[in-house]
Amino acid sequence: MNAVVSTAGGAVERIAVRVYTVPTDTPEADGTLAWDRTTLVLAEAVSGPHTGLGWTYGAPATAAVIGQELAPVVTGRDPHDTSGAQEAMSRAVRNTGRPGLVAGAISAVDLALWDLRGHLLGLPLARLLGGAARPVRVYGSGGFTTYSAGRQESQLRHWTEEQGIPRVKIKIGEDRGTRERRDLRRVSAARAAVGDRVELYTDANGAYRRKQAVRIAAALTGAGVTWFEEPVSSDDLAGLRSVRDAVAPDVTAGEYGYDLAYFARMAPCVDCLQADATRCGGLTGWLRTAALAEAHGLDVSAHCAPHLHAHAAAAVPNCRHLEWFHDHVRVERLLFDGTLDPAGGTVTPGADGTPGHGLRLAPVRAAEYRVA
Ligand SMILES: [Mg+2]
Repeated sequence: MNAVVSTAGGAVERIAVRVYTVPTDTPEADGTLAWDRTTLVLAEAVSGPHTGLGWTYGAPATAAVIGQELAPVVTGRDPHDTSGAQEAMSRAVRNTGRPGLVAGAISAVDLALWDLRGHLLGLPLARLLGGAARPVRVYGSGGFTTYSAGRQESQLRHWTEEQGIPRVKIKIGEDRGTRERRDLRRVSAARAAVGDRVELYTDANGAYRRKQAVRIAAALTGAGVTWFEEPVSSDDLAGLRSVRDAVAPDVTAGEYGYDLAYFARMAPCVDCLQADATRCGGLTGWLRTAALAEAHGLDVSAHCAPHLHAHAAAAVPNCRHLEWFHDHVRVERLLFDGTLDPAGGTVTPGADGTPGHGLRLAPVRAAEYRVA
């Protein structure tokens, strides 16, 4: 005899999408890209009186994928069946091609469904995912190559002195790795600004060549840098592996991972896998990636979009930290209420018992930035 299980909520009635573009506070660049605005594509999953919110950062065209390719296969489903929805979405995009903005679209919908589940069950995601409202380490991330020395120092002091965050990261590899001396001057300045007790990280965004990265790493090691992100292109797995084997700082990558197979290929080549739930299939994909990392003896670190990762990080023992990324912290504070406080270097998602990930759209503030 089959037991009748009552589930909170009926079906997913509707997937809606909105797009917001927020100008940066100053022009920004890393080693391989420059930008002056950030676009957030917001997916809403509606069931009865409840709405779950998920988002991805990427091209406005992501919204069309959500509306045209994904909404039809998710609408009408049991909102608790996030695995089934993930599978249905993945199958639906076979001929569209999953990597890139399509994976961003799948991720936004998956994240909205998880938030919806939290609301239907009245549970913060940290608890729903098998964790608790426990502190999660964050690191301050920004330090763009476009910053003046003064701007870099004030940002670093804001994180370390005003907020008490003992981990920070700056960008290096300026102009595709052609400005090594300025890179190293900025690293020295960063160390001088934060002192010896703060963990100092660098991110080259794939700007260097292999031997160049090894030479740079020697200087980074001298400045006490312990994290060297994407020293070479993350498409160069053999290069990542060879740099990892040659240098003292942890070599890390993974922010362009759109599916689990990508992380399986990368795991043997890095010291820490970075996974981004807004790209790798939402919380469903992120949790699978964390398990894959664990099987390789690695930590996972949450890339960007800190408020979408915080609860999962509180439920995954091998999550090293969340990236408290300047742009996304700023955008999430502008568009949403319920954002977290990183004072002391941690956030505690779910501490107030708010269901889901705890963020609600602030429609009046957000209206100014809505583009679709
Ligand atoms: Mg990066």
